[in-house]
Amino acid sequence: MKKFILVFLFVLSLFSLSGKTSSPRYIILFIGDGMALPQRLLAEEFSRKTEKKPLLMNSFPYHATTHTVSANSLTTDSAASATAIACGVKTNNGRIGTDPKNNKLVSAAEMARDKGKKVGIITTVTLNHATPSGFYGHRKSRTEYYELGLDLVSSRFDFFGGGGLHSFNKLSPDLFTLAKQNNYVISRGRDALDSMKKENKNIFLASSEKSNMPYAIDLSGNIPTLAEITEKAIQLLDNPKGFFLMVEGGLIDYAGHSNEAATNMREVLALDAAVKKAYEFYQKHPEETLILVTGDHETGGLTLGVKGKKFDPLVLAQQKSSSGVFKSRFTALKKEGKIKSFEDAKAIVTEYFGLLFQSKNPKEILLITPAEQKAMEQAFHQGKLPSFLHNLMNQKAGLGWSTTSHTAIPVLTTATGKGAENFTGFIENTFIAEKIKELL
Ligand SMILES: [Zn+2]
Repeated sequence: MKKFILVFLFVLSLFSLSGKTSSPRYIILFIGDGMALPQRLLAEEFSRKTEKKPLLMNSFPYHATTHTVSANSLTTDSAASATAIACGVKTNNGRIGTDPKNNKLVSAAEMARDKGKKVGIITTVTLNHATPSGFYGHRKSRTEYYELGLDLVSSRFDFFGGGGLHSFNKLSPDLFTLAKQNNYVISRGRDALDSMKKENKNIFLASSEKSNMPYAIDLSGNIPTLAEITEKAIQLLDNPKGFFLMVEGGLIDYAGHSNEAATNMREVLALDAAVKKAYEFYQKHPEETLILVTGDHETGGLTLGVKGKKFDPLVLAQQKSSSGVFKSRFTALKKEGKIKSFEDAKAIVTEYFGLLFQSKNPKEILLITPAEQKAMEQAFHQGKLPSFLHNLMNQKAGLGWSTTSHTAIPVLTTATGKGAENFTGFIENTFIAEKIKELL
């Protein structure tokens, strides 16, 4: 009997050991803000037509339909969903890392840090915006930017990268000064990527100190891509105890709010390029890495195909900039006196959107019809040309948008690597944090 008990205890200890080894050493979580199935499919079909390949994030073997409802609304905001995904608890819209009764919650990132892993947070928007702050912040409201900045600088996380830090509701002490006092090294611009050191805690600002990164479609100069920041973060965080890294494509949501299809799609493609960097790391450590790609909610009520017009993503291929950048250029040319009439505006319309006023091919997808030209001329005279043009692009691509807000439709979570098989079926967004915590 004694022998039997000893054997039993031995087997039990093997089980508990194998429990440890079943944990992924490296966890990389991607969140597309405002990215649900339609956004992923728009980018997928575009990629299939132009690059002859699907989106990497969609090709992962495990898929889970993910319910995004918050504690007080069928339509969540990014604060409640970030709290759900990061901490595993449904809370009211607007709250960061706190439950509806204002109790502080623990995020999977904090748990990873406390277990000795390195932690990184990346976003294309500001570092103390709702989604990233869900992983380190604990506040009643997402608008407490300064206070969330205080939570950031005291988080003891190893890497922050992306946009700047909002601090407009309070200015002193300056958040960057506090970050330096807490041993963060602050670097700026693509040129600084290579000089960041592994032994430091790093804050990397892609462009300005206070604002979002530019849209991927507008990216130029010394501003790195989301993929470049992700690749660098992985290099810096890699260590024998492992790491937890969250990467947010935060501007997908912005382009969803303004119903700009090409800009939205380029953001999803930029996120997929970042997923590729994680996947390259996974290929080197397939037995130890878990990659998850999810969204926090859908934005815009995007649909692929509208009455009278089939979905054709290729319409978006020639668009050169976001509506905002087009608008600035257009306004500048008007001020310089270079655009006085609608005739003068035609060249810049073709240059920025690929739209053609004439073509030998009557089936040319970017050819402007006489009725469209008439409406465009009217919009020009009303000073509404920029918004008219991105709406025209939507019509020509057969894309419908039902709102400029968030919708309640579920998002998709895809997974590959160690522990990925847990992410199937119809799950709550809270399940992501619960499972990550369990796997840590
Ligand atoms: Zn939003």
